[in-house]
Parts: sequence; structure tokens; C-alpha cells
Amino acid sequence: MNILSKIAGCILLFTAANSYAQQQPNIIFIFSDDHAYQTISAYGSKLAQTPNIDRIANQGVRFRNALVTNSICGPSRATLLTGKYSHINGYTLNEKKFNVGQQLFPRMLQQHGYQTAWIGKWHLGNLPDGFDYWRILKGQGQYYNPDIIGPKDTTQVEGYVTNIITQFSVDWLNNRDKSKPFFLVVGEKATHREWLPDLQDLGAYDDKDFPLPPTFHDDYKNRVAAQNQDMTIDKTMRLRDDLKVHANYEQKGIYGRFTPEQKKVFKAYYEDKISKEFDEKHLSGDSLVQWKYQRYLKDYLATARSLDRNIGQLLDYLDKNGLAENTVVVYASDQGFYMGEHGWFDKRFMYEESLRTPFLIKYPGVTKPGTTVDQLMLNIDWAPTFLQIAGVPVPADIQGTSFLPLLKENPEKVNWRKSAYYHYYEFPQPHHVYPHFGIRTERYTLIRFYGPSDSWELYDLQKDPHEINNRYGSKGAEKITASLKKELKKLILQYKDTEALKILEEK
Ligand code: CA
Repeated sequence: MNILSKIAGCILLFTAANSYAQQQPNIIFIFSDDHAYQTISAYGSKLAQTPNIDRIANQGVRFRNALVTNSICGPSRATLLTGKYSHINGYTLNEKKFNVGQQLFPRMLQQHGYQTAWIGKWHLGNLPDGFDYWRILKGQGQYYNPDIIGPKDTTQVEGYVTNIITQFSVDWLNNRDKSKPFFLVVGEKATHREWLPDLQDLGAYDDKDFPLPPTFHDDYKNRVAAQNQDMTIDKTMRLRDDLKVHANYEQKGIYGRFTPEQKKVFKAYYEDKISKEFDEKHLSGDSLVQWKYQRYLKDYLATARSLDRNIGQLLDYLDKNGLAENTVVVYASDQGFYMGEHGWFDKRFMYEESLRTPFLIKYPGVTKPGTTVDQLMLNIDWAPTFLQIAGVPVPADIQGTSFLPLLKENPEKVNWRKSAYYHYYEFPQPHHVYPHFGIRTERYTLIRFYGPSDSWELYDLQKDPHEINNRYGSKGAEKITASLKKELKKLILQYKDTEALKILEEK
């Protein structure tokens, strides 16, 4: 081969690699846990600033109605991996063993030239499949010095979990096969209960006094399921185990993992400052509940502060390594969370705060910077979207739809779903939320609770955005109820939810 043909060959190879890269961008999916949109400044939060999550919003698109289909941790991850509802992928409840042998979209990405990695929280009772590289937290994961499971062994890694996950992600990015596009899930532990902040963030919000949400003192009138839940800041949130008031530092699971230096700093804050303040106040009744609320928000937001800072580090890494232009970055939580609305923490209910999840995407050259999408987008849509971005055909049995057209075109002109289906199962533990399914349209939410007690709820989100006025059965609601029930049945049939169909047809 002469020198000219060698050069020509190199140019051809280079061109091929280049167009390949353009056709198949890298994808980083930063997937947090229980991170409420009410606490993200890109979503208009006044509670805290999240400058790095906002960077994604400013450079990309913010979905205002990104909904989950079953608002708890494991099922949301199972839906991400399959693009299917819980009743189809088999993972309806937490703490089961997810069947990784079924069709998972990362495996399809691998078959089409991607290298795939999952780093951080996995929490599916099984080891990952469909990933070239994985390092996962053991179970729910620990905030300090967590156990990290790899294909060969489990090791305890010293440090704070969010920093460790970023470090593992950057290490993998540095050492990856650079000839291939990549799909990386950064699975965050933050901001899951019990909200242990990084040492450098302790007290970051102590000078703030947070306003109570309008529904903080909700009386749950006309809402049987809400009357029977066990997730209030008042009764369910624990002073010691959640808010670290005279925490049990002998407790092996959490504090037994701390190094003496970590424990010293942690105790100096929670024992010498917070617990002392608590003792001096002699709180009871509503003043106690309000103090708990303030402490809850301070711990939660301090934990989220590290999350946001670490997202900034990942974005900086992409910028510094010439990857930003060819990498799709998504930030999402596995569901929303209550920040005192209805007097609650946790999730589960098909009410806005836990039904909606933050979802931001920047796709250089595709997303228009700083724009929003209002369409009803579901977590079953995530898998088909990633497949379509990668140029991989979407299998017909995936239940979601790629939302790429909503990014590429004027969303108002895209033929898109007008109603969304939801089904929650986990009962009675841990928070005694009755199982329910329902439909959400642009304006209404209709919910059918079942299990120990059957009931319906109907909300007009336009007139009643906080969902405290259950209009089901009230005068004037007959027509909209009938039409929503008809649409609900249609969705149940479309998504093949036989259990819900049976319940719906019984009465
Ligand atoms: Ca979660």
C-alpha cells in the first residue's frame, strides 16, 4: 500500500468514525432519588438554588409535566430499563428481585455499538445486566463510606456517597473505550431518606426560615386514603432516626460506618448544636411539628446541595474533555417527593408532588436552550427516547413513546398523548398508602383507590392545584367523571393492566 492510499484510508476511517459519533451521541443519565422539583430553582423553587441543575435547564429543555407511572424507587428504575409499566415488567413493589433477563434497552444499545455503564444506586434486588461496566451501591446504599458492589467483589469505599459516585463516573469516562459512543447512568443515592448531608454542607441552610406550604395543615376531608396514610412529618417522621436529634451513634447501619473524624464533625453539628437547640426549646404540639418541618427541609436541601455540586463537576468534565457538544445530558429523579405539602414527606400518591418528577435534557444541536415542554411525558417514554437518539429501532412491545419529536419540533404541533395512566401497589408497608390507579389529563386527575377501602377522587387542577377539593360525586362533576372513566378504561386496555380492569369492572 503506498503512502497516498494509506492517507486516504485514514481519512475514510476518520470520516466514518466522525459521522458515527454524530449519529450516535453519548448519553449521560443522571438519575437521583426522591429529588422534589419544588426544591430545584430551574422549576421556580425559592427554597434553594441549584445552579448546576439549572445549567442543564438553561442549555436544554425542562419538562413541566414529566410523570412517573408508579411513584417509588425500584419500580421507577425497572420502568426506565424496560419502557414498560410495572405490571408488565413484573416489578410492582420495592425489595423484590427484578428480572434482568427480560428485554432491557441498554442491551440493545450495546448491540448497536454503545458501551454502557451503571454507577451508583441500582436497588433492584439483583445485579445489573446489559452493562459493560457497573459499580452499584449495596441495597439502598449508605451516605457515608458505602459498600460498592462490582462484578468481582464488594468493597467499602471511604467518603461521601455523592462524591464517590462522581469519582467512579469520571474514572470510568477516562478509561472507557473512546472509539465507541457511551451510555452512562449516574445513579445517585441523594436525596433519599434519612438525608445525611456531606460534612461540608452541614448547616448550609440554618439561617433560612422556610415558609409552610399552603396544605401543611391539610385535614384530608373527603379523602379516605389520605386520612389513612402513615407519612406525616407530625407522626411518621422520627426525631432521632430522621432528624438526628440525639442520634444513636452506636447504630451500626449508619454511624458505625463513619470514621472517627467524620463522626466528630457530624456530632459537633447535630449533637452540640441541633440537639442542644431542640432540648432548650421544649417544643410540643404544632410548634414541634413546625420545627421538624424546618429541620427536614434543612437536612434535605443540604443533601441536595452536594448533589447539585457534583452534577456541576460532571458538566465541567464534559466541557473540559471536548465531550459537551456530542453528549446528551439528562437530569431526572425517580419520582417526586412531598416537602411538607399535605403535611407529608415521602411519595406514592398520584397527587402532583409525587406524580411529577424533575426532568431536564440538553441535547446539543437539538434542544433549544432554556425552553419548556408542557406535554404529558411518562417514564415509560425514557427508554424508547434513548433508543431513538442512538438510532436503534424501538421494539413494538415497549409501552412508551420516544419524546424526541417534542424536542425537534414545535411540541404543540406533535401528535402526543392527552392523558396519562398511573398504577401504585405497595401496601401496607412502609407508609400505608392504599393501592390505586388513575388517569391524569392536562386539567384533571381521577383516582381509583382499592385494597382495604374502595374510593374515587377527582381533582380539577386548574381550580384546585393543591388537590384538596375532591369533586368525585359532587353536583356538576357527572359529565367530566364519565368521560374520564371512559378514557381510563381505554388506557387500562391499551397498557394491558388486567388487574386494574378487573377492579374497574367489579363496581
Ligand atoms: Ca425514590
